Amino acid sequence: MSVFDLQCADGEITRLWQQSITDELVDYIRIPAKSPHFDADWAGNGYIDEAVEHIAGWCRRQPVEGLQVEVVRQDSRTPLIFMEVPGTLDDTVLLYGHLDKQPEMVGWSEGLGPWQPVIRGGKLYGRGGADDGYAAYASLAAIGALQAQGVAHPRYVLLIEACEESGSYDLPAYIEQLADRIGSPSLVICLDSGAGNYEQLWVTTSLRGMASGTLEVEILSEGVHSGYASGIVPSSFRIARQLLSRLEDEASGRILPEAFHAEIPAQRREQLAAVAETLGDGVHTAYPWVEGARPVGDSTLERLLNRNWRPALSVIGAGGLPGIDSAGSVLRPGTALKLSLRLPPTVDGEAATAALKQLLETDPPYGARVQFNAEASASGWNAPLVAEWLDQACQRASNAVFGKPAMYMGEGGTIPFMAMLGESFPEAQFLITGVLGPKSNAHGPNEFLHLEYAQKLTTAVAAVLAEQAGQARPGSRRQAA
Ligand SMILES: [Zn+2]
Repeated sequence: MSVFDLQCADGEITRLWQQSITDELVDYIRIPAKSPHFDADWAGNGYIDEAVEHIAGWCRRQPVEGLQVEVVRQDSRTPLIFMEVPGTLDDTVLLYGHLDKQPEMVGWSEGLGPWQPVIRGGKLYGRGGADDGYAAYASLAAIGALQAQGVAHPRYVLLIEACEESGSYDLPAYIEQLADRIGSPSLVICLDSGAGNYEQLWVTTSLRGMASGTLEVEILSEGVHSGYASGIVPSSFRIARQLLSRLEDEASGRILPEAFHAEIPAQRREQLAAVAETLGDGVHTAYPWVEGARPVGDSTLERLLNRNWRPALSVIGAGGLPGIDSAGSVLRPGTALKLSLRLPPTVDGEAATAALKQLLETDPPYGARVQFNAEASASGWNAPLVAEWLDQACQRASNAVFGKPAMYMGEGGTIPFMAMLGESFPEAQFLITGVLGPKSNAHGPNEFLHLEYAQKLTTAVAAVLAEQAGQARPGSRRQAA
């Protein structure tokens, strides 16, 4: 068995990024492969399939020994790329990513656009490059670098799904169908997460869950002159506000019902205190504030706890409100608001969604017709205790590649797959990391992939894979620390 040479691997990976992966991602950004929630006719439009073929095609061309690339399909579901690299060690590592994208969103800067790849200042702008198109390329590149050096390694399974941005509702069926071929991984690697800066390896220790849906308030069967109706007919907007106040203190943003809160584990608090120390004001200055605006909370630690371990409401869409240009003086018949309630990692998504529905629908003000149409919920995820070997592998990889230690931080976002996997493989260790650092703005305008960071992260993943392979012994299961 040969020893892994990190410098040599870094050279290979850098070359691959510069000669091939970056160009592939440029073409991938041009494909408007919006997730099914944002493109109801995704099957007819064919963009998801185009993205699948684009990524699978590149993977098939890689000189990875024994690599099998298969596009798996179940009738009306989004397809899934399943890849397998046979190993010489009796162990399985699962690597996960997704290729479906968020919708366009407005506010892109001059010269940039969601389906218009632009490289500027070492950043590749465009939708989906960082979230999460690069993952399939980076995962296979890391495996390839390991294999090129003849390192004995376990079996690798790669899952690239096309439904993540819609809550991964197609994924469980595939996991079930492929259960035997996936096996029971001892390590799961996911490259769809965040980074606190672009200077070290960031390991995600928790993800928030989500309860979402549309709150509909109807008070009239048709609109009426607001001079004639206001003061007698209550405004549906005011009723919606009143209902939201059951959920949220509008002055502080605190979510009121205890059911949506969870106890914050002491270890997570300590880790976030270390992150607060490292990033300081960088945690809030990373956002595109307007001049003079201030963040929530009165310390960096409080803000990190808010984003990782406390529930928070966002109103992400509205119905029943005409655009400003066509707004007449009318008391409108109804108001609909699309709500997204992020949940602490350990709160059950389904139970929270049911509680939200009850909270909003019970005893409607003025007898208005109030309905909360829930969408599929998602539970968050809290990582199991990190095994000693994995912690050390991450620290060594980060120090070697970036010259700084690895950091542990929770993420405010949701990756539904993690909760599913955590349940399916309670014994597995997890390395959840990603390139979504300051201003990378996944889901918003001006999303970018920080190319140098993505390249270095690929090398860091290869280093962790090499250490994992060194841990695994033929025929014996590693013991968890
Ligand atoms: Zn993503």
